[in-house]
Amino acid sequence: MELLIQNLSKTYSNGVKALNDISLTIPQGMFGLLGPNGAGKSTLMRTIATLQDADTGNIFLDGLDVLKDKQQLREKLGYLPQDFGLYPRISAEVMLDHIAQMKGVIHRSERKDLVASLLQKVNLFKDRKKALGTFSGGMRQRFGIAQALAGNPSLIIVDEPTAGLDPSERNRFYNLLSELGENTIVILSTHIVEDVSTLCSNMAIICQGELLMQGKPSDGVMDLEGMIYQKSIDKSALDEYRGQYNLISTQLKEGKLNLRIISEVSPLNDFEGVPANLEDVYFSHIAQKMDPITL
Ligand code: ADP
Repeated sequence: MELLIQNLSKTYSNGVKALNDISLTIPQGMFGLLGPNGAGKSTLMRTIATLQDADTGNIFLDGLDVLKDKQQLREKLGYLPQDFGLYPRISAEVMLDHIAQMKGVIHRSERKDLVASLLQKVNLFKDRKKALGTFSGGMRQRFGIAQALAGNPSLIIVDEPTAGLDPSERNRFYNLLSELGENTIVILSTHIVEDVSTLCSNMAIICQGELLMQGKPSDGVMDLEGMIYQKSIDKSALDEYRGQYNLISTQLKEGKLNLRIISEVSPLNDFEGVPANLEDVYFSHIAQKMDPITL
């Protein structure tokens, strides 16, 4: 199974070019789509989910022409959008039963089994009678996965799933997501590098509507090995370094600024060579388009 995106472009009526000739091949397993806010991730996710149209380009899921045969795609799709409304007074069990019914599971007993197994899968079975309005952020996201899985999808899209989750909720959500990738394509759209380094076997980076990189996270890291240097400086000295070095990120640590730079030769000025990581891959690509970001 493979999702093929060819030359996709979209300009909104206000003139914002949200997608600029994006071509991507997304294989089975977990795929991370990484980019800062405003990169075009949601636009791409919504286009794949057939919720909005592109201006030009094609999308194929194996033989299926996604942008033409929208209904057929929807039958294969599980979608967890960035913001999804929940009816606050309805219980998890009743809501899922309703969703299963909408997805075509008409027999009540079959639905009951399906709902119970979905709730168990996302570890919400004991909370099944609780009103959705009482759920924590992590519980809401796990419920979102349960509803996305209801139709046995072969393509699952999750848009910014871990934003707003606390570390233990995030961990639980990672464990759940990591079980999904085996027989399906799972696209995880996120601005959080850790989401991709923890979960994804393939990835792409987009920024300002443009594709900057696609491949395996480990290959991206390998390409930068031996070229990353860091140094801790006073905040006030930043401008001096900014002009002199190819800065990829800055991070405040114990009141000082930790600079990471990329350089093919060993830099002067007491920089220390360090192993490359996926954040370096991300920021070195983003730095081509935007100012290095202060984390
Ligand atoms: P991301 O999900 O990566 O944050 P989006 O796809 O939401 O990015 O947005 C990409 C760009 O398109 C942003 O500049 C955003 O402001 C703009 N945009 C998104 N939706 C609309 C819309 N409906 N009308 C006009 N501009 C939009």
